[in-house]
Amino acid sequence: MIAITSNSVSEERLQDIIRQVEKHGATAHVSRGTDRTVIGIIGKFDPVLEEKLRAMKGVENVIRISKSYKLASRDFHPDNTVIRIKGVEIGGEELIVMGGPCAVETPQQIDEIARLVKAAGGQVLRGGAFKPRTGPYSFQGIGVEGLEWMAEAGSKHGLLTVTEVMTPEYVDICAKYADILQVGTRNMQNFDLLRKLGTIDKPVLLKRGFSATYEEWLNAAEYILAGGNPNVILCERGIRTFEPYTRNTLDLAAIPVIRQLSHLPIIADPSHGTGRRELVAPMAKAAVAAGADGLIIEMHTDPDNSMTGDGVQSLFPDQFAELLRDLEKLAPLVGKRFDVQKQAAAALG
Ligand code: PEP
Ligand code: MN
Repeated sequence: MIAITSNSVSEERLQDIIRQVEKHGATAHVSRGTDRTVIGIIGKFDPVLEEKLRAMKGVENVIRISKSYKLASRDFHPDNTVIRIKGVEIGGEELIVMGGPCAVETPQQIDEIARLVKAAGGQVLRGGAFKPRTGPYSFQGIGVEGLEWMAEAGSKHGLLTVTEVMTPEYVDICAKYADILQVGTRNMQNFDLLRKLGTIDKPVLLKRGFSATYEEWLNAAEYILAGGNPNVILCERGIRTFEPYTRNTLDLAAIPVIRQLSHLPIIADPSHGTGRRELVAPMAKAAVAAGADGLIIEMHTDPDNSMTGDGVQSLFPDQFAELLRDLEKLAPLVGKRFDVQKQAAAALG
């Protein structure tokens, strides 16, 4: 259930409404939009509370929400969520490009790639220090040292950083070093991890599980939001289908669908979504054309020798830079801004 207040409601009145909600054993999540304030009422549906709220001064409307996710739904938060990190806005007018290797390998590697991502106009450096590998004998990531190298490279080159966290125990250390924490496709329903991420103040990049429906994905986001962390970025990274030619099938329809269902920023990962270097640029452009707020793209200076198997889907630096120049032309056609030179010169706030 959500309660929508009249535009002019006073803070005192708002607190009265919240107290009423809490008196009935429910939790109130307040979302202040540009036009109206929406109170998400989380808890078992209570018809008595519904009646009382309807009668309260300052309450314009009460709507029952049948969706299992409430805070993630656009009903609760009609305006798009814009996440601000050190002067960078995710989900706003600016197109966001996150680039970097699958895994952090050495200090030199991440520093050089960070330099190239920045020069090409990207705003965020990606790189995994903890890698979720399908087989237990594969390279599992550098670990905490990798986080340090990446944080250094990010701050030196004026980039935000995003890195994957796989277990609740590592959330605090990852949050200490990275600006955005990524939940990988394999952990989308790791509910303990999601709950822990709800308690921190760093944004979370939540990848879609490779077999997850939109509803399951938004419910995963709901875990984080319900814990008190409002900053979730959704990422379509491809789903498993019968087609073996590509590593996954990038579900482009997810982008406009999520826009309808949710207010959260949505980005696409054409690297894992296709698994093939030559398909990354066309699918990146298609995702932006479909309305994505940004992209996360693997790029490597020496993909043939990368420490994970993801070299085959990693762009070379010149391909990455060319793609970003193309995105600069494409972005205005879909209501986004992207200025390569401006980004390359921008300092973090
Ligand atoms: C990654 O970003 O390197 C990664 C492992 O992604 P996913 O969880 O989408 O496979
Ligand atoms: Mn990868």
